[in-house]
Amino acid sequence: AKRLGGNTFRVFEPSYRALADSRRDLIRDLREAVHDRRFELHYQPVINAQTRHLVGFEALARWSHPVLGPVPPDRFIRLAEEAGLMGELGSWLLQQACMTAIRWPDPLWVSVNISVEQLYHQNFISTLRNNLRLSGLPPERLQLEVTETIFMEADAATYGVLQSLQSLGVSVVLDDFGKGYSSLGYLRFFPFSKIKLDASFVRDMLSDSRSAAIVSAVIALAVDLGVAVTAEGVETPEYFERLRDKGCTEVQGYLFGRPMSQEKASHLVEKFQQT
Ligand code: C2E
Ligand code: CA
Ligand code: CA
Ligand code: CA
Repeated sequence: AKRLGGNTFRVFEPSYRALADSRRDLIRDLREAVHDRRFELHYQPVINAQTRHLVGFEALARWSHPVLGPVPPDRFIRLAEEAGLMGELGSWLLQQACMTAIRWPDPLWVSVNISVEQLYHQNFISTLRNNLRLSGLPPERLQLEVTETIFMEADAATYGVLQSLQSLGVSVVLDDFGKGYSSLGYLRFFPFSKIKLDASFVRDMLSDSRSAAIVSAVIALAVDLGVAVTAEGVETPEYFERLRDKGCTEVQGYLFGRPMSQEKASHLVEKFQQT
C-alpha cells in the first residue's frame, strides 16, 4: 500500500525486499517445474472468418504453482526468460505441441509462441528439425509466433534464423501486431506468413473510430502484402461480423472457444469433422 509522507525509504524497503524474495522463490519453483516438466499446453481454436471452418489451434502454456495456483503465462514466461530457462521449457513445449497436432487431421495446424531467448538459442533450428522428424508433423502444419521484440537485437542472425525456419517450410507469424512501435518496418524486411492483429485494437474497434480505422488499414495492408491476418480477442458476434466484412482471414477469441485442454481440443476437432 502506498503511504504518503513519513519516511519513504522505510516504507518501501521492506516491501521491495518481500517482492525480491517472492520473485526469487518463484524462480526457484519455476526451475523445479521445468526440470519436472510440470506444464501443460492449452489449445485455442482459430477459425477461418469466411468459411467458419476450424483451421488450427494456438498452443498456450499453463503452469499451476503448487501453492499459488495458476500463474499467468505472461508472468512465468518472462521469469523463465530472465532465469535462462526458456530454452529448455520452450523446446519441451514445442515438442508437446507437435505431438498433439500430429493426432489432428491434416491440414489442421498448431501455432506455437516462441520467445526471444528461445529463438536465439544455439540449437533452436536443429531442435526444431528433430521435433518435426520425431513427431512426424509436416512443417506446413506448424506455425511459430514471434513478436517484434525479436528485432530489438536485430542483426543478420535474426533474419538468418527466420529464413531457416521458412526454408524448413514452417510459417513465421508476427504476433501482437500494432502493439509495439515499429512493426511496419519489420514487414519490409521479413516475409511473415501471417499477421496477428493485437487484441487491443479489436477490443476498441466498435466504440472507437480510430481503432476501427487501424483495423481496416492493417487488414488492407495484409491483403496487399499477400499475407493472412488473424484477429485476436474476438468475443462477440458483432466483432466477428465486422472483421469478416472487412476481409479478415482468421478469427480467434472466446466467441469460438477459450484455450482448452488437449482432450477438449480433440473433441472439438471431431465435432468439426462431423459437420
Ligand atoms: P498471446 O500470444 O497474445 O496469446 C493470446 C492471449 O489472449 C492468451 O492469453 C489467450 O488466452 C487470450 N485470449 C484469447 N482469446 C481471448 C478473448 O476473446 N478475450 C480475451 N480477453 N483474451 C483472449 P494467455 O494464455 O494468458 O497468454 C498470455 C501471453 O503469454 C501470450 O499472449 C503469449 O505472449 C504468452 N505465452 C503463452 N504461452 C506461451 C508459450 O508457450 N511460449 C511463449 N513464449 N509465450 C507464451
Ligand atoms: Ca500468440
Ligand atoms: Ca497475440
Ligand atoms: Ca502477447
